[in-house]
Amino acid sequence: MTDSITLTTYQKSNLEKIIISTPDSVSGIVIGGRWEAVVRLLPASNVIIVTDTNISGIYGKRFPRFPVLKIRPGEDSKRLKTIESLAGKLLNSGIDRSGFLLGIGGGVVCDITGFLASVFMRGIRFGYVSTSLLSQVDASTGGKNGVNLGETKNVIGTFRQPEFVICDTTMLRTLPDDEYSSGLGELIKTGIIGDRSIIEILEDNYADVLKRNRDILSVLVAKAVRYKASVVAKDEKESGLRRVLNFGHTFGHAVELHDGVKHGFAVASGMMLAATFSRNKGLLRDDDFNRIMHLLKRYNFPTEINMDPAKIESLILHDKKKAGSDINFVFIKGFEKPLIKKIPLQEVIDFYRQNLKGN
Ligand code: ADP
Ligand code: ZN
Repeated sequence: MTDSITLTTYQKSNLEKIIISTPDSVSGIVIGGRWEAVVRLLPASNVIIVTDTNISGIYGKRFPRFPVLKIRPGEDSKRLKTIESLAGKLLNSGIDRSGFLLGIGGGVVCDITGFLASVFMRGIRFGYVSTSLLSQVDASTGGKNGVNLGETKNVIGTFRQPEFVICDTTMLRTLPDDEYSSGLGELIKTGIIGDRSIIEILEDNYADVLKRNRDILSVLVAKAVRYKASVVAKDEKESGLRRVLNFGHTFGHAVELHDGVKHGFAVASGMMLAATFSRNKGLLRDDDFNRIMHLLKRYNFPTEINMDPAKIESLILHDKKKAGSDINFVFIKGFEKPLIKKIPLQEVIDFYRQNLKGN
């Protein structure tokens, strides 16, 4: 089944389009164009926009002329009660099975839109304008959507590809600094496991990356999407290969839940630990290790992880990736060389305990 997914890439000057075709869907991710062009991809009627109040405040006046449903910004909105309330509004709006949901926002809005569209009337059409760096480089590619349940992230959701994802990097200029940095953390992850040219660009264009130069960002986003799409194409439902995308995430997800650290920062800390773990096991050479640490430091990710080591155990045990007493941990043997190894969960916990400050 997995080999029936195909990828096609088109490039025209600054515009890149990556098409993911599965047996029951065709999903096009467009990078580098203007987001306002989304109107050409929409039906003439029966469209509803889902966004958050930050995005509508900045871009709302330029939205296509359709009804807009707004959620509160932030992870707290990723709850079933949001889905229930939005579904009620969809019903009241008179939208039917031929309706179309357009999500305009970051990962939270896209997750909610994708999930809502997947379950409302057993599935209606949907697409995204992806507005945060994190969602452009990661979340909006791959067809995963969902909401959190209690303390557990993304446990209720579906796999369903949006018809399109538009990634206009000029929208990233209005992103708060910490959200931008968080996206860079995930981008560095993609560079390490999947495309070393991302690392090279980040190393060589520090000033332009910080200035959020739209052309450099479009190149970086396109590379990240291409890599993620290639992994998804080989393993849409996360049976094996797709797990490499979890590099830095075992620890990352735990600290994210623990103290509300932004996702990319949590992943950056997780990558430092995973790289150290890989080096200690003799898998990763010192020069590659140093290069990773240097890049993370340069982009201002904290190098010391302050956390009560006792806490990490319960947090990791709480994470959905636990599998009996073993865990599929993502190591790296070098750039573009992730390695999934099944190891005892206790070994990971012991390593974290030894390497967290406050020990
Ligand atoms: P994610 O980081 O997964 O994309 P969110 O959807 O919560 O998560 O987006 C992070 C925050 O950034 C939210 O407060 C959201 O409203 C805000 N945001 C997203 N995109 C933009 C943008 N282009 N300009 C300004 N704020 C944005
Ligand atoms: Zn991530």
